[in-house]
Amino acid sequence: MHFSELPNINSLLEHKLFYGLSAERVKRAARAYVQGLRDSMLSGSLGAIPSLDECAQHVLSALEADASLSLRGLVNATGVVLHTNLGRAPLGMEIYASAAGVFGGYCNLEYDFNTGQRGSRHSHIEKLICELTGAQAAMIVNNNSAAAMLMLGAMAENKGVAISRGELVEIGGSFRVPEIIEHSGARLIEIGSTNKTHLSDYAKAVKNKGAEVLLKVHASNYEIVGFTKSVSISELAKFGAENDLPVFYNMGSCFLIDPQLIGIRDGETARSAIEAGADLICFSADKLIGSTQAGIIAGRSDYISEMKQHPLARALRPDKVTLSVLESTLKLSLYPEEAIRQIPVLSMLAVRPAELLKRAQALAKGLEQVCPGWIVEVRETLDETGGGSMPNVPLHGFGVILEPVGISSAELEEKLRKERIVTRINGGAVIIAVRTILPGDDEIIADTLSRIFSGSK
Ligand SMILES: *Cc1c(COP(=O)(O)O)cnc(C)c1O
Repeated sequence: MHFSELPNINSLLEHKLFYGLSAERVKRAARAYVQGLRDSMLSGSLGAIPSLDECAQHVLSALEADASLSLRGLVNATGVVLHTNLGRAPLGMEIYASAAGVFGGYCNLEYDFNTGQRGSRHSHIEKLICELTGAQAAMIVNNNSAAAMLMLGAMAENKGVAISRGELVEIGGSFRVPEIIEHSGARLIEIGSTNKTHLSDYAKAVKNKGAEVLLKVHASNYEIVGFTKSVSISELAKFGAENDLPVFYNMGSCFLIDPQLIGIRDGETARSAIEAGADLICFSADKLIGSTQAGIIAGRSDYISEMKQHPLARALRPDKVTLSVLESTLKLSLYPEEAIRQIPVLSMLAVRPAELLKRAQALAKGLEQVCPGWIVEVRETLDETGGGSMPNVPLHGFGVILEPVGISSAELEEKLRKERIVTRINGGAVIIAVRTILPGDDEIIADTLSRIFSGSK
């Protein structure tokens, strides 16, 4: 092997693969590639000199890798609908398209067409939220953590806030309810015990510890079972009203449509909490609402006006992308059947096991053909709502299990993952749960698996 056998940069540049590409970019990539070959030759690690076509292919791959985004779409085959690491709620193309028509250009984010004067960015969605929840007023912030922070920072600063010990939850990462209360300038008053809190505990906190605000937090990601007692939002709101104390409820996640329509018996709705008498509620827009990341605060209009004036509100305000996507989603939520059809999170929760079985069978049939000899079988799966939304609601689904030959299941999982197909391993097999697979994903899975299969032999 000799340096003179290395491909000539100029003949590489003229390769047909590079037609139409910027000559400067190709030249830079080609030089780096050939320098790499030279280095490997010097160190003795180059087995053979690649052909001109192979070299061109390598340079093209390097150019493509360079141009691709870091944040990329993927196939979620985990069966976890609101996967916190995978961007939570998928938006659905119809919602995205109608919103993109707004945020893609200029829009009336803070502009009143009638007067030509400055308008309020909250105004576009406030009425919709009031209609969907029965609240007097509402506002939007960047996420539910921000909503909880603003609610307490604006309405409970320097005040004693009573909360049940069973609700002092940590929600992933570093979001802990006690810390939020502390940072908001409120004084935390823990009441009851981890498993039991009675209304009399709130009464004692008011009488003996100077509690001025009553806070309830949905225990999103766990459930205390067994010997338990907690105070419902309606009991707490009634007590608050009798004693002239505000009651705030951080619901975390809740529905805007009747969850019975998607076969979920005891899911909470924002409307039920408002009807129960909560003065303010807050929840995430990208959990069971199925929209983009945002936090919604709804309730008494005097409280909401005060929060809109608070300096934190400016720091936490959402932009036009968030607001337009949210408006599209909320509009749909007014028509539950349409919402279930078009909001992916709701469709994925509503789908019947019989339908999932059919989809799993169709997927298995396609996959059997691309990897003959491997075990490909339809199995029942236990899917999850995820996102700390409904830890106690089992979702029975179906999926396809893959047991490869020649490589291990762990290797198969890794290869799929690097091709942006995220699966789970269970009982030594790779599982592709069909609930969270979007239209078009079947073909991507089959094509990718076919490539991995050819490479494994
Ligand atoms: C999910 C959740 C949060 C955090 O909401 P984000 O929108 O992720 O910021 C806060 N509190 C509760 C109770 C939650 O369930």
